[in-house]
Amino acid sequence: MKLLVEEKLAEELTAFRRELHAHPELSLEEKETAGRVAERIERMGIPYTRNVGGHGIVAELRSEQDGPTIALRADMDALPIEEETGLPFASKRKGVMHACGHDAHTAMLLGAMELLRREKLAGHVRFIFQAAEEVNAGARAMIEDGALNGVSEIYGLHNLPTLSAGKLATCSGPMMGSVDRIDIQIEGKGAHGAIPNEGHDPIVCASAIVMALQSIVSRELSPFEPAVVTIGSIKAGEANNVIPHYAVMSGTVRTFHPSVQAGMKERIERIVRTVADSYRCKAALQYTMQVPVLVNHEEQTNVVDEAVDEQLGADSRVHAAPTLAGEDFSLYLERVPGCFFWLGSGPEHDAGQAYGLHHPKFTLNEACLPVGAAVLAAIVKRRLGRHGKG
Ligand SMILES: [Zn+2]
Ligand SMILES: [Zn+2]
Repeated sequence: MKLLVEEKLAEELTAFRRELHAHPELSLEEKETAGRVAERIERMGIPYTRNVGGHGIVAELRSEQDGPTIALRADMDALPIEEETGLPFASKRKGVMHACGHDAHTAMLLGAMELLRREKLAGHVRFIFQAAEEVNAGARAMIEDGALNGVSEIYGLHNLPTLSAGKLATCSGPMMGSVDRIDIQIEGKGAHGAIPNEGHDPIVCASAIVMALQSIVSRELSPFEPAVVTIGSIKAGEANNVIPHYAVMSGTVRTFHPSVQAGMKERIERIVRTVADSYRCKAALQYTMQVPVLVNHEEQTNVVDEAVDEQLGADSRVHAAPTLAGEDFSLYLERVPGCFFWLGSGPEHDAGQAYGLHHPKFTLNEACLPVGAAVLAAIVKRRLGRHGKG
């Protein structure tokens, strides 16, 4: 793979990514990370604002020439996972790990900033360093704080360890699923475990609800409309011989088309209510829509494709397979046109065997850092002309 940026910059990006990797911070707590990023931006002499939508940072490279504003976004938060990589720069914080590679995304965005500040552009570039992506809170908060005001297009990337570094995956249209959260509380009537007729068993009721919810995907939706309903947690009771009073469950709902997402609340509500009723229990459902389907815009996807082809050659670009994993980048794409794409971060051979995102042994091939920085910068240059040193 040819090096797309000068060696010194590639080394700086690697060093900075390792620094962040050793000092991960959980969502909504990224204060120190933001401080490290601000220091780098300060050194480049680019104006910025801190504490946008929590610990987020917005920096803006203003051109003398008037033109549109193109936004690039990276996320900065880590996960509550105990790192098991054994790397020399592994997390120094117990139970916290950059297992989704947001440390790399942050480094790459700084790299793009360094590349773009040398250019003469016919327009402006906004750099969005977002906090709290993993809890689906950061993008919404940044938008509410005005991070997208005046922006005409937005681009972002996510590393993918099961794709070799040097390869990228793009697709126009829907690429990632919507994310909704459900919380269900069931109230029965407690009783002696040996005298069930004196109670209304919330555990049997909860079990029936879990089974009935599966019929939404298998019986109510078209087989051509992907969706997932997963109950990830059930809590009820303490003793083996007592029927408890309450049961609580929580789960996640994923869809791939906005119209399917729109109908999920009614479906779940109906099943929870009627099944609980038939088991003589009361049920309350809290349905929280967190993130919409991530839909890439065609024109902006073409821009990414062209930038990739120019930087790495068309044979390094593959079509992105759809996934029901979610990304709050979709909230930006609801408001302005843009494209989110996958950047290979896996080993050169057998990337399919690599540990996936959110795994305690997740590692990242750092050869992807200059690639990400160069592609992000190339996207902006395609949009804002190229009259500079190039
Ligand atoms: Zn993640
Ligand atoms: Zn991530």
